[in-house]
Amino acid sequence: MVTYRLGEREARLGVLHRDLVVDASRLARQQQCELPAGMLEFIDLGQQGTLLLQALLQDSGPRELAGASTFAGNVTLLAPIPRPRKNIFGIGLNYAKHVEESARSLDTAAQRPDKPVIFSKPPTSVVSWCDPIIHNRAVTEQLDWETELAVIIGRRASRIDRSAAMDFVFGYSVINDISARDCRRSGQWIVSKGQDSFAPMGPCIVTSDEIPDPHDLRLYTKVNGVVKQDSNTRHMLFRIDELIADISSVMTLEPGDIIATGTPDGVGAGRTPPEFMWPGDVLESAVEPIGTLRNPIVAA
Ligand code: MG
Repeated sequence: MVTYRLGEREARLGVLHRDLVVDASRLARQQQCELPAGMLEFIDLGQQGTLLLQALLQDSGPRELAGASTFAGNVTLLAPIPRPRKNIFGIGLNYAKHVEESARSLDTAAQRPDKPVIFSKPPTSVVSWCDPIIHNRAVTEQLDWETELAVIIGRRASRIDRSAAMDFVFGYSVINDISARDCRRSGQWIVSKGQDSFAPMGPCIVTSDEIPDPHDLRLYTKVNGVVKQDSNTRHMLFRIDELIADISSVMTLEPGDIIATGTPDGVGAGRTPPEFMWPGDVLESAVEPIGTLRNPIVAA
């Protein structure tokens, strides 16, 4: 599922179907039903929305589909949730080898955390799969990458047991938890990770029914075509069900909330010698089979 724009028109909710983007609300209207034109409003419908959309797609012949579609090459894909309703939940130190490299190169502890390390990134940090990432020389010389699996919450979740937690997932996306390593303040990460453009996300959300095992997905990062991170979500220390149980034990999770589940080893700060991103670089962030972000770094 995508959020897209055709020319200067309003952002719309779409489904990628072969080389087409199907407008969900137009498809519904053709068959005398109703679906919203925005991703968040669609997620609010819960499983009903997904089931209705699946039925509409199944029942549509080529003519109906064509009537509600645009060639994917003609649209601009925005972040699937262009403006989250609240801060993104970030999970730090959630892969063992990343805990090790961080302890070597940053100021974090060497032992694995016994509870998830939680921080947040504001809605204004979100940009699309191909938008520029801002390198602000006035504040950083250590702009770093962190490719992560993003979990999109589908239902209101308060004090949820681990055993039921996966029922609260709407779907999955790709996010890069961009971090200016030299902007951490007294152990607080929001200035380092919450800057404008520091959460490129997309290009789509794959609904949870299409990802049978989110703990077996390859994720990798390339900078200027060179592989920097290459791992698998099976190496997460706290799995998605544990993260949902833990966060919801203290804060209500709501439809459309986003959890960035942590990054594997291979970040720039952990390399010998350390490597960071500069204007002119191109960052690729991929989680298979969800998709790839391709963001240029620009001075601003
Ligand atoms: Mg991270």
